[in-house]
Amino acid sequence: MVVGDIAGDMDLDWQVCSRARLSRDARFDGKFFIGVLTSRVYCRSICPAPTAKEKNVRYYPSAAAAAEAGFRPCLRCRPECSPGTPAWLGTPNTVSRALRLIAESGLADGGVEVLAEHLGVGSRHLRRLFLQHLGATPSAVARTRRLDFAKKLIDETSLPMSEVALAAGFGCVRRFNAAIREVYRRTPRQIRRLSRQSGVPLENEYVFRLRFRPPYNWNGMLRFLAPRATPGVEEVDSSSYRRSISLNGTHGWLEVSLDEGKDGLAVRVQFGDPRSLFLIIERVRAMFDLNADWAAIAQSLTADPVLAARMAANPGLRVPGCWNGFELAVRAILGQQITVKGATTVAGRLAKTLGRPFAGPGGLTHLFPSTEVLADANLAGLGLTQARSETVRAFARAVLDGRIGFDGVGDSGDFMARMCEIPGIGKWTAQYVAMRALGEPDAFPSGDLGLLRALDLKTPGELERRADAWRPWRAYATMYLWTAAGEQPVLHAGCAVPGPGTDFNLGMRLSAGGRAGKSV
Ligand SMILES: [Zn+2]
Repeated sequence: MVVGDIAGDMDLDWQVCSRARLSRDARFDGKFFIGVLTSRVYCRSICPAPTAKEKNVRYYPSAAAAAEAGFRPCLRCRPECSPGTPAWLGTPNTVSRALRLIAESGLADGGVEVLAEHLGVGSRHLRRLFLQHLGATPSAVARTRRLDFAKKLIDETSLPMSEVALAAGFGCVRRFNAAIREVYRRTPRQIRRLSRQSGVPLENEYVFRLRFRPPYNWNGMLRFLAPRATPGVEEVDSSSYRRSISLNGTHGWLEVSLDEGKDGLAVRVQFGDPRSLFLIIERVRAMFDLNADWAAIAQSLTADPVLAARMAANPGLRVPGCWNGFELAVRAILGQQITVKGATTVAGRLAKTLGRPFAGPGGLTHLFPSTEVLADANLAGLGLTQARSETVRAFARAVLDGRIGFDGVGDSGDFMARMCEIPGIGKWTAQYVAMRALGEPDAFPSGDLGLLRALDLKTPGELERRADAWRPWRAYATMYLWTAAGEQPVLHAGCAVPGPGTDFNLGMRLSAGGRAGKSV
């Protein structure tokens, strides 16, 4: 049986694809696409349309590959709504990093050459890797992403088509119209009429539905985010996460909740500049780890008996990302050597004293302070030590003058080394920030005392050896072990003794920078 016209040396297993297709298995949604030879459309594994005969289908590792092979996206299962391409086993880091960069920039400035330069590889090599693992070139992947996002905006918003064209990176309406017609054989307006939108949306307000591959532990995500939510900037209630946002001088807010029964999240965005919607949605995807391939992660981590028990009890845990790397890192610095609760209080004071006032819904009163403001802010009176205040300022200055950046990080080792050059930032904080801000599935705080305790190990060396078997998913193992450690409060030298009311829920105390870098 043929696995796609061009899929000969790719990681697709025909039998797995076939079983997933016939059972419409949502765990495989977005891991491969099905080209149907008779209709010339391509589908997700969950397509509700009657299943085609095996001899009439081809399997592709990405939507772009199916599109390149001449298939059009199915209007029923809407491939543009599938969860993103997972960073799966066997894919070189270069490919996952390139995908992340394409998600951030849409390959807008400079194309493949610039992308390759950023990653430190030749552009021909990058093309070859993409063809091998995704079945399509970087430009084809970027093109498909732009089209996918345009289709989402047509279907899910009432944004004027001229704005859709700009927001999806088409530059001009004529090119946008031509591209949509070529792919969908319909005009953008015809597609919008088919989408059956209900209700009249408010101005500058959009609702997006973003899919994941089940299981997804939404409550686990909220339980992690809730105690760390910066008062005034973020709010977490029993069912949703809300925050103020700021991009390129425009301010707004977003709210994320579970799209019940749909294997996805519903994201409500209030933002004045539609050109930023692509970036906002990509950041939400990263923040809630929607591209994760839980089936692959589980298969690999359950070989460790401690992890297996935790995963069976609590399936679908994700690695929480962040809205903004700078904000997360500042929050991690504030949390060094104090409890999560204490750090949250200090972060709230910081936001209310130095952040810009903002009128949002449900408790959102401020934007997080900008890099410029924190670079020479007077932090006296916020409850920080002198040394910690200086670390926050030094870090902000390093971000401001470009020594540390969060966009398009090609090498997380280099990123962590730069972080550690700042006095007061140690290995633990750098690893924690890399894990949450760079979306590195293999990032691992090997010096974390909570992890040692959870596994009853004595030294980081022992922990690193044990963790070798968890590659490339060590960040997920970390989440499970932190959850496990939470059942017993863990104290150690260099960590302030928690006072009354300390929040030991899920042991997340450990992850808020509970120890300064130098103590690990
Ligand atoms: Zn379909």
